[in-house]
Amino acid sequence: MLSYNFYLITTGIIMKAFVMKKINETGIVDKEIPAGGSYEALIKTTTTLICTSDTHTVHGAIGERTNLTMGNEAVGTVYKIGDKVKNFKVGDRIVVGAITPDWGSVAAQMGHPSQSNGALGGWKYANIKNSSLADYFHVNDADANMAKIPDSVKDEEAVYAADMMSTGFMAAENAEIPLGGTTAVFDDRPVGLMAVAGSKMLGAASIILVETGPKRIELGKQFGADEIVDFRKVDTVDKIMELTSGKGVESSIEALGAEVTFQNAVKVTMPGGTI
Ligand SMILES: [Zn+2]
Repeated sequence: MLSYNFYLITTGIIMKAFVMKKINETGIVDKEIPAGGSYEALIKTTTTLICTSDTHTVHGAIGERTNLTMGNEAVGTVYKIGDKVKNFKVGDRIVVGAITPDWGSVAAQMGHPSQSNGALGGWKYANIKNSSLADYFHVNDADANMAKIPDSVKDEEAVYAADMMSTGFMAAENAEIPLGGTTAVFDDRPVGLMAVAGSKMLGAASIILVETGPKRIELGKQFGADEIVDFRKVDTVDKIMELTSGKGVESSIEALGAEVTFQNAVKVTMPGGTI
C-alpha cells in the first residue's frame, strides 16, 4: 500500500487519523505517528479545519488516494523538533500553512514556492502527504513553514491564517492593485472575503464584490467592499462597467474557480490590468 508519510519514517506509536479511504469513502483509522528529520517538526494537533479542497479531493478531483489523512489548515503545539530547526522549541504554539514548500528547491529560490519540486509541488497536505486531521502531523522545512502564535491570539482564530486568510491576501498581492485602483473580487466565500480585506490593506480606492448571500454581503462591507454586485439580480459585467464609467477595473481577483467568473473577470478588466 502507498504511504503518505512523506519521509516514510514512523515512530511505531499508534494515533487516530481521519482519512480518505478511497474516492467517496472516508473514515477514522489507526496510523503510526510520523517521525521527522533534522529540519522537520512533529506537531500535536489542537485545532484543525476541513477545507473545500478536502471535499473536492474525497470526491475524486485529484484522482484516487488510499488511506490519505485529510485536512490542510492546522494549529498545534510542537511535539518533536529536528536538531537543525532554529526558531522553534517543543511546546511552542504554532500555525502551519496549507502550502508547505521545499524552500531549497530551484522554483522556491526563484520566487515560486508553491511550485517547489514540480507543478503545485508545495501543496503536499491531503494531496501527497498525510495531513492534520489526526492526533499528530509532520511539517517539512519547519523554520519556514511554521509561525508562532502570539499569546493574544486563540487557536481557533489563528487556524484561519493557514489557508483562507493567506490565500485571499496573496490574491490581492498578485492582483498588483495600483494606487487608487479599483478591484473586482469574484467570490463571496472566505477566500474572496479575505481578498477584499487584502485589497483594502493594499490601498485599493474602490472594491467591488460580486456576491449574493446576505450575511456574506454584510461581512464583505465590513472587510472593505465599497460596491456589491449581486449576480442573481443584475448582469455582473454590465453592472461593473457601469460602476467604473465604462472603463473596467484595474485588478480582478477570481477566487471561485468557475468558468463564468473567469470569463467575467476578463471582460471587466481594463487593457493592461491584472487578473
Ligand atoms: Zn484549505
